[in-house]
Amino acid sequence: MKKHNFNPGPSILPQYTIDGTAAAIKDFMGTGLSILEVSHRGKEFDAVMNDAVALVKEVLGVPEGYAVLFVGGGASTQFFHVPYNLLEKKAAYLKTGEWATKAAKEAELFGEVVIVASSEDKNFSYVPKGYVIPTDVDYFHITTNNTIYGTEIMTDLDSPVTLVADMSSDIFSRPVDVAKYGLIYAGAQKNLGPAGVTLVIVREDLLGKMTRKMPKMVDYRTHIKSNSMFNTPPVVNVYACMLTLQWLKNNGGLVAMDKVNAAKSELLYAEIDRNKCFVGTAAKEDRSRMNVCFVMAEGYKELEAEFISFASSKGLVGIKGHRSVGGFRASLYNALPLESVQALVDAMREFEASH
Ligand code: PMP
Repeated sequence: MKKHNFNPGPSILPQYTIDGTAAAIKDFMGTGLSILEVSHRGKEFDAVMNDAVALVKEVLGVPEGYAVLFVGGGASTQFFHVPYNLLEKKAAYLKTGEWATKAAKEAELFGEVVIVASSEDKNFSYVPKGYVIPTDVDYFHITTNNTIYGTEIMTDLDSPVTLVADMSSDIFSRPVDVAKYGLIYAGAQKNLGPAGVTLVIVREDLLGKMTRKMPKMVDYRTHIKSNSMFNTPPVVNVYACMLTLQWLKNNGGLVAMDKVNAAKSELLYAEIDRNKCFVGTAAKEDRSRMNVCFVMAEGYKELEAEFISFASSKGLVGIKGHRSVGGFRASLYNALPLESVQALVDAMREFEASH
């Protein structure tokens, strides 16, 4: 049976990426070697890295003056790379979930951290509004999509100070005005590629201003100078990311993704709002298009495990909610087709009819 993959990350990738990576594992660009065993210093991989960087710039519309990097360590490593490079005295953070909280906590090792606003009072089920971004800080950090709680900041904020964004779980899901951000980072394992590589887009004029000493691996300038090959990069992961970027480009880019992602999430939210058995957990105006969180409605609470196993019998995998929210989370990343969302909606209807 065909599986419908709603995993939150690592998560569904385009078949194009999976097939292309499998082919390169057998024979990398006609070298007669597997991509698992080639040197990152060879001309073939050099071309892969250059293509991946060029495709990020093209697909996302990265303006002049920004560097695009592929680094190791996951998004969690960026939680301290960012303040290492940009926090001299004070930084501001918007506390919208577990990842935002972890990012702010790491920054405290480097200077003063101001939490401008938090939605912790309601289990991060909304995105705070009406806050004022201080002007005496080195940067303002946001998490554009809160993977665990299913909320999303869909607009590119106007910030009086350098705006830093963790876009791990919604990058490439819609067009973004990169010029509004000083730095964007994203772990690859949702909309881009396998876990283990992180995309960083940084405005170069922000760098080199810290008085502190930094390990070379932490200094973004090291990676800029060496085209993300100061040390051995995660070769296969970068290759897979390049394939996904090609897929994005060949499938209408971010304008097309935006449309499909709107259609997918509207379909599912409409069913959650209509179906008597289920209720959404995030504030309607802040609902994420990538991670749709919902629970059993009053009167149906004891049916949670039954719905999970019913869904599983229909080939729907990865819909169990994160322990902080409970219930269900359906992740609708770029590579998930509309038909998978329809299959989930059909299962919810069938479940309702039988209860
Ligand atoms: N930020 C967000 C928004 C995430 O969803 C995640 C992980 N899912 C992380 C950061 C941490 O990423 P990593 O596991 O790559 O360190």
